Amino acid sequence: MGGARVELITLARDIGFDFAGRFDAGRLEFREDVRAMCAGGRCQRYGRSWSCPPAIGPVEALEAKARGFSRGLLVQTLGALEDDFDAEGIRAAGEEHKRRFGALARQARLALGGCLPMGAGSCTLCVRCTYPARPCRHPERVYPSMEACGLLVADVCRLAGLDYYHGPGTITYSACILY
Ligand code: SF4
Repeated sequence: MGGARVELITLARDIGFDFAGRFDAGRLEFREDVRAMCAGGRCQRYGRSWSCPPAIGPVEALEAKARGFSRGLLVQTLGALEDDFDAEGIRAAGEEHKRRFGALARQARLALGGCLPMGAGSCTLCVRCTYPARPCRHPERVYPSMEACGLLVADVCRLAGLDYYHGPGTITYSACILY
């Protein structure tokens, strides 16, 4: 398992993540109040994707699955913004983060078998999600977001020894894998 740990963080750096930090998965706190924000409608994806609540099941079931893993790796993509209203910069960094994390999750699933990837935001693999009318088109590639699992991203950053926010003129996207 020690070798797998080294490979995963090396893989993350090879893929291009700007920051990566390991953490103790046993110290994660799964919070219903964080999950409740999904239903608040801020991202408009609640009840509209196989990767989001309620399709991914209750927090307690996700926590039970997560408790089967002892290690975690947090990865971050840092984007540079021209100003606070640089929507194109925010979008581009988010897309790049999804591309990187999709590659990491795919390779981690192949290399480790059992692992639990948790990303940033809802799945956007398809232009239009099939939820709820038809089964997911790519169930082997889908993962929930950290928030949907009840994780406060800032807390996980602290556990991993990484900054949640990297300063003015930047935007940071985070995701993690338990293994
Ligand atoms: S892969 Fe497609 S169908 Fe499955 S959750 Fe993502 S967008 Fe929806």
